[in-house]
Amino acid sequence: MALSGLQIYKLLPGSSKNPAVKKHANCKACGFPTCLAFAMKLSQKQAELTQCPYVEDEAKAKLEASAAPPIRLITVAANGSKLAVGNETVLFRHEKTFYHQPGLFVRVKASQADAAAVAKAVNDYSVEYVGMDLTLDGIAVEADGGDFAAAVSAVKGASSLPLVLLTEDPALAEAGLKAAEGLTPLLWAATPDNWEAMAKLAARYKAPLAVRVDDGDINRLVDLAEKVKAAGVEDIVLDPGLRDYVTSLAVFTQLRRLALKKNERRVGYPLIAFAGDDLALAGQHIAKYAGFIVLDSFSPGTAYPLLVMRANIFTDPQKPIQVQPGLYEINHPQPGDPLMVTTNFSITYFAVANELESSGLPGWLMVADAEGMSVLTAWAAGKFDAERIAKSVKTLGATEKVNHQSLIIPGHVAVLMGELEEELPGWKIMVGPREAVDLPAFLKMVRQPA
Ligand code: SF4
Repeated sequence: MALSGLQIYKLLPGSSKNPAVKKHANCKACGFPTCLAFAMKLSQKQAELTQCPYVEDEAKAKLEASAAPPIRLITVAANGSKLAVGNETVLFRHEKTFYHQPGLFVRVKASQADAAAVAKAVNDYSVEYVGMDLTLDGIAVEADGGDFAAAVSAVKGASSLPLVLLTEDPALAEAGLKAAEGLTPLLWAATPDNWEAMAKLAARYKAPLAVRVDDGDINRLVDLAEKVKAAGVEDIVLDPGLRDYVTSLAVFTQLRRLALKKNERRVGYPLIAFAGDDLALAGQHIAKYAGFIVLDSFSPGTAYPLLVMRANIFTDPQKPIQVQPGLYEINHPQPGDPLMVTTNFSITYFAVANELESSGLPGWLMVADAEGMSVLTAWAAGKFDAERIAKSVKTLGATEKVNHQSLIIPGHVAVLMGELEEELPGWKIMVGPREAVDLPAFLKMVRQPA
């Protein structure tokens, strides 16, 4: 169970009976003014125990036990990649952040002639989004009557992604685990009927094991997870067996709440969801609260929106995605080509850069340090004002690269024009369009001879 701030304080040097430890009380080495302040931050999970170098061993063991993640971190791995899910600490992204994005797996069936080809297509799929390469996470191989071991081997050879082995037959499960030798697949699933055999296999092959009931009954699911745990399996994934929108949302949310708000360790495991080919259902599971999501088929048209949605949800809301401030060359510009300025919020940068690149027009894009905020937000926060823009012109190399003194500013900050002319004497400040999509037409217009 998690400890309160006062309970933690009683285990820190400030409360120690040992003079050699007590002498460090309130020493500030942890970065907090007192042991009590540090204890409060620890209880809120806003500090790490390792920040205090003076905690006694016995106290440390108690504190580490209480600090164990409310949702166990489960890792599946293959030769080229691995995926860790769980270890989340909040219900809502805005409370802190989500740490481990759910894995998106594509199902192939053992009887499927093109299973390896599908696995390769999933493996090779990658799409760039605001400077990040987004990829799928693995293949779920289903024992549906074909040669399961052969299918697992073929998929393993065609892809370097982690696997989920879908079978409730212990004999097939063992064949699949042998074929997946060297990998750490997720084994799905132990049920009330087969759990003993499946737990033995999971323990022997050191594979995480999904436990499944077929009716969303949390008590039965907990009972099954406890049995599997008692049989020696620590890495457990929960499958409440629900495949629709409403009941899966209700039960997934209930399980997450129990784990985080009630410190109910018996449900403190990642969840697995099966979304079929339903894009919206997969999206629901990304948001709330799956760790593994199995899709029935692969298509770039389905993968792209899910990957982008996941990337947006699993970024730290307190740390905007940023690009490095600097002077970016678009389409091999010459010294006489236009100079534009924007902020270093990643989505803003890529919106502008993509429009320019696809227009084929050369230009210099100066990215000012606005602490990762978009143009209007940065302007409102005083992070994208005339002084900062003028400083960027002088420090980011613009004056060395261009042979003119014209600067195009975003239309949203037209109000800065006068101040910028004062900050940059002799410069001509032009107000560009408000939206990046209108930039190519604007550039064509300003390039026309007067
Ligand atoms: S490092 Fe912090 S918690 Fe540890 S003894 Fe010093 S003040 Fe107390």
